[in-house]
Amino acid sequence: MASRSSSNRSDRQPLSGRTKPTSASRRSVTPTSRAHSFQADEDPGRVRVAVRLRPKNDEDVLSDDDFSDCVELQPELKRLKLRKNNWSSESYRFDEVFTETASQKRVYEVVAKPVVESVLNGYNGTIMAYGQTGTGKTYTLGKLGKGDAAGRGIMLRALEDIIGNISTSSDTIEVSYFQLYKESIQDLLAPEKTNIPINEDPKTGEVSLPGATVVKIQDLDNFLQLLQVGEGNRHAANTKMNTESSRSHAILMVHIRRAVNEKVNFGINSQEKGSISDLFDGKDIPIVRKSKLLIVDLAGSERIDKSGSEGVLLEEAKFINLSLSSLGKCINALAENSPHIPTRDSKLTRLLRDSFGGTARTSLIITIGPSARHHAETASTIMFGQRAMRIVNTVKVKEEFDYESLCRKLENQVDNLTADIERQQKLRDDDKYELEKQLRECRENFAEANKILVTRSEQQQLEKATYQKVLADTTQMYEKKISELIKQIEDERAQSESVEEQLDLMKKLLSENQKSIQNHHMENSRHQKALAGTTQIYEKKIAELVKQLQDEHAHFEVAEEQLDLAKRLLSDHQKTIQGQKESDELELKFQEMYQLQENTLHELQLLKSENKDLLEEKATLNEKLDSVSQRLSEEEKQRKAIENELVKLKRAVPENDNDFEDKTSYAKEDINKQSSEFGNRSGSYRSNQLRGTLSRQRATIAKICEEVGLQKILQLLASEDSDVQIHGVKVVANLAAEDINQKRIVDEGGLDALLMLLRSSENTTILRVASGAIANLAMNEQNQGLIIDKGGAQLLAKTASKTDDPQTLRMVAGALANLCGNEKLLLLLKEDGGVKALLGMVRSGSSDVIAQVARGLANFAKCESRGIIQAGHRTGRSLLMDDGALAWLIANSNTASASTRRHIELALCHLAQNEDNSKDFISSGGVKVLFGISEESSREDIRNLAKKSLRLNSSLQAEMHMQW
Ligand code: ADP
Ligand code: MG
Repeated sequence: MASRSSSNRSDRQPLSGRTKPTSASRRSVTPTSRAHSFQADEDPGRVRVAVRLRPKNDEDVLSDDDFSDCVELQPELKRLKLRKNNWSSESYRFDEVFTETASQKRVYEVVAKPVVESVLNGYNGTIMAYGQTGTGKTYTLGKLGKGDAAGRGIMLRALEDIIGNISTSSDTIEVSYFQLYKESIQDLLAPEKTNIPINEDPKTGEVSLPGATVVKIQDLDNFLQLLQVGEGNRHAANTKMNTESSRSHAILMVHIRRAVNEKVNFGINSQEKGSISDLFDGKDIPIVRKSKLLIVDLAGSERIDKSGSEGVLLEEAKFINLSLSSLGKCINALAENSPHIPTRDSKLTRLLRDSFGGTARTSLIITIGPSARHHAETASTIMFGQRAMRIVNTVKVKEEFDYESLCRKLENQVDNLTADIERQQKLRDDDKYELEKQLRECRENFAEANKILVTRSEQQQLEKATYQKVLADTTQMYEKKISELIKQIEDERAQSESVEEQLDLMKKLLSENQKSIQNHHMENSRHQKALAGTTQIYEKKIAELVKQLQDEHAHFEVAEEQLDLAKRLLSDHQKTIQGQKESDELELKFQEMYQLQENTLHELQLLKSENKDLLEEKATLNEKLDSVSQRLSEEEKQRKAIENELVKLKRAVPENDNDFEDKTSYAKEDINKQSSEFGNRSGSYRSNQLRGTLSRQRATIAKICEEVGLQKILQLLASEDSDVQIHGVKVVANLAAEDINQKRIVDEGGLDALLMLLRSSENTTILRVASGAIANLAMNEQNQGLIIDKGGAQLLAKTASKTDDPQTLRMVAGALANLCGNEKLLLLLKEDGGVKALLGMVRSGSSDVIAQVARGLANFAKCESRGIIQAGHRTGRSLLMDDGALAWLIANSNTASASTRRHIELALCHLAQNEDNSKDFISSGGVKVLFGISEESSREDIRNLAKKSLRLNSSLQAEMHMQW
């Protein structure tokens, strides 16, 4: 009951309350024309008031016999005339005026149905009956109409309409039924619940009874039963309280909750709607209309004393009527637009707060009786109705978002989402666990790897450092070695320069040593001999002396025996006093013998001491001998060391001839040496310097030859002047060292000139250089035949026999050795005395000459064996055998020079391949030597060749098996 009145309500119109609520219900409720008039008002929010006149009852008929009715109804005018007295009356206009014959149905449709429709459309609604007790309030509202359906009151009909117009699936109807008596609310559906408190929503002002029973209505029968129960409980309660039902207010509270399908936009700002809409995935937000219908059967409006209640104290009566009088005051205040509406004065006014001056659509039916006896009460009731009619409510649809549904949906969503989150959380947890596990493993692996890395890195560092150190050391070592080697090379160069000197020195030293050793040996043997003689003499003497001593000793013993005998005889004589004379003689003799013995002992002593001296001397001599022997062995060792050194030095000095088969290298080099003999004689190795010098010399010679002409140079060889001859032959020799010149030299008679020199000259140099030149020409196979044909072999042999100059012999031997390499010429060479001359040259003792001899023999033997193997026809004993070559080879097979030994070994191997040489081999002990070569030769190819020769030659093999 807000402070609103019709006078100032024009500017405060309810949102939808001004329009007649359109029927949204499925069952059309068609009001009658009169009912329509009840609503066709300028102000739909105004409280509609209808008046109903009860028919006269028996009591009325009886008591009012003499009186006319106090009211006169003008239903068509919706007016009621209240008779004041017999001559005047007051007319009141109502929204509807029901005569005593008005049917329950019409009353419902006119008074209640508009309200019910409003309630179905979401407005709160109130239908209230006000009137004196017995005027038909309960009849109008609560009649059940058990026997007569037409008698059913508003409650049943309203619920019937509501039930018929809602969807039982989406909408709900809930009912509470209670009574208010003496400001106490009692639940009529659960009468034990009394004094139920009223709850007012401070925001919406909605009033509710949270303690009251709320029953959900499914159908009308259900509701009918409820009403019956409520009615029964109301009756029972009033009996118990010793009250009449007329003194209590009965209130049926119907809550309707309807889901709204159409889009509704009730003042929700777009932002709020959007945020809510988001929760519903953009669908419409569910809207619900929650309306409340109050059907209030008020207590009788008459004064208490008038009601005939007995035994009720005044204060109690006041209390009983508090709610009703409070309602009257509020209605008055509202009607008079009073600033203060005492809504809170009673529970009834609190409960009806929305019904009067609130948002509800309210219809009031005031019931009056016809009897004049109750004029005052009737007038009062009419005035109450008149005032109520002036009240204008601001009807307002009770529509709101369906927060419950929303909440449920949201809860569902939340549940689903929670479940999803939980699932995802579980997955995430699993993932997390897995990841953590992996992370852990990774960390462990990383740590492990890191550790390994660190260890490796340390190792590598260490290794690196070690390598670097080793590298540095190695580098240093190699650098040192290189420098040493360089130094060594330099030393060797220097050494090699003095090698020959050293060699000579060594040889001298060696021969001296050998001589000294020989002397020592001789001396030693002399000493030993002397010592032996002396020893023998002394031993003899000692033996003699010993013998003498023994003899003397025997004598002495004999003498002693004789002395004993003499003594015995003497004593005998003394005893017999005879033989004094004899005794003296014996005494004398004894003294003589004693003297002799003394002398002998002395002599023995002397001999002993002499013997001792001799022994000492012998020991000294032995010591001397030992020391001499030791010195000898040391010298022997030294000698061997020197020999070794010599061998080494010789090896270190490059060999003149690296291959026995190479006919060219030897002689060329020799001539080179020859031609440079006035320069560097130590050039036994191929130094670049020497080569350079030689090539320069040759270039000069070639130039001279070109300018002068070979013919003229050759003419020099025939000069009378030996110096000219020497220079000429040197030039020719140098030219002959070059292959390209050889043919020209021979063609232009150079060979003849050279042979002429060999034949005629006695000059050593000329012989040497000419031999060298021939040796060079003899390198060429074509020239070899020419040389033999021209008697070159004989001339070379002659030259060899008439000189002892080792250099000349070397050249001659070299030339012959070259000729030995031509298998076609072997026989001629032998017949011309070439082989014999070659072997004869070994007398020189020069190792260089011997080397050439060995090379020649090797070449010869090889040519022979080649002839045997290739041609197969040449048999017979080797041509070398006659001249003692085999014996020399065997004898010199152990020579110190490596190259010579190699040639000798090869010669032996090749000779051994010829079965016809076997006899000579066996007889001269060559098999053993050959076997030695096969085992010990420094060259593998020679070892293999020796093995092959032994294997192929069955006689040698047989001999070998026989020997081992
Ligand atoms: P109240 O509730 O106002 O005290 P009730 O409804 O109990 O009055 O009515 C008193 C008596 O009058 C009841 O017996 C009832 O049947 C009767 N009555 C009331 N109104 C009518 C009516 N319009 N038509 C017939 N009888 C009525
Ligand atoms: Mg009643």
